[in-house]
Amino acid sequence: MFDTLTDSFKNAIGKIRFHDDEKALKKATDELKKSLLKADVHHKVVKELIKAVELDTKKNGIGKEQFMAALQKELTDILTIEGAPKGFTFASKPPTVVLMIGLQGSGKTTTTGKLAYFLKEQKKKKVLVIAADLQRLAAVEQLKQITSQIEVDLVADENASPETIVKQGLEKAQKELYDVVLIDTAGRLAIDEELMDELARVKEVAEPDELFYVADAMTGQDAVRTAQTFKEKIGITGVVLSKFDGDSKGGVALGLSEQVGAPLRFIGAGEKMPDLEQFIPDRIVSRLMG
Ligand code: GDP
Repeated sequence: MFDTLTDSFKNAIGKIRFHDDEKALKKATDELKKSLLKADVHHKVVKELIKAVELDTKKNGIGKEQFMAALQKELTDILTIEGAPKGFTFASKPPTVVLMIGLQGSGKTTTTGKLAYFLKEQKKKKVLVIAADLQRLAAVEQLKQITSQIEVDLVADENASPETIVKQGLEKAQKELYDVVLIDTAGRLAIDEELMDELARVKEVAEPDELFYVADAMTGQDAVRTAQTFKEKIGITGVVLSKFDGDSKGGVALGLSEQVGAPLRFIGAGEKMPDLEQFIPDRIVSRLMG
């Protein structure tokens, strides 16, 4: 999944030996910089990371071990938002309500299904999905198919307003003791006032514990910019990066949390329901470092 990044770290680490001097360190960080930029990591994130790794390594005596430890620490720092939850966390009082937001075509509806499947199969939770994307009628049909395939309950009514359907769904969830409620909301091809107003109204009714922004990894830095706007206007507690199986270079995942100011919580890498993985910074960094 992170082949480009893993290779780039191995290359950089390979350039440095025990008791090397600053010249060797420079060679290693130059290599690291080149490959990170090639993997599509934002240049500001690269600059910060390199500077911190250089400083850390020098402080502890230049060598492979020190370089690896510095890289591991800085990567973990860059992926972690202080005090923010990692992976999926449950509200202290059920149901945990999650609002799924994002642009049309980002993979929001598919990701809602994948998340429902993950919670049901891996966390053994009782999950309710609410179809509140009433802009794209095919989305309701798509959710009907997905939820019946994974055997998760769905609340849908093409004739209701998004706010009404959310209210109905939440009442059902309270009464029937669901653990988690996932709300699929409307998207547009681009951000517009109408979309933001609708989302703000749905958010008010839903009072969500989590606002998951679904970002299409294939759109690279555009995904980051759109996420920043959603965060400003609606709020985001986590990002789910979809379509990571495409020709995504992986770098966007590395800079995203820091750039958006909200943690990356899940990665989607395929169209099937099990193709979703929790993004836990320490675990991902261990994998990246090989
Ligand atoms: P929405 O408009 O945001 O609800 O987007 P959809 O959920 O309908 O997804 C748009 C397209 O992207 C569909 O063809 C999905 O099958 C596809 N898709 C969603 N997630 C992924 C993913 O992780 N990998 C791949 N390859 N395709 C995906």
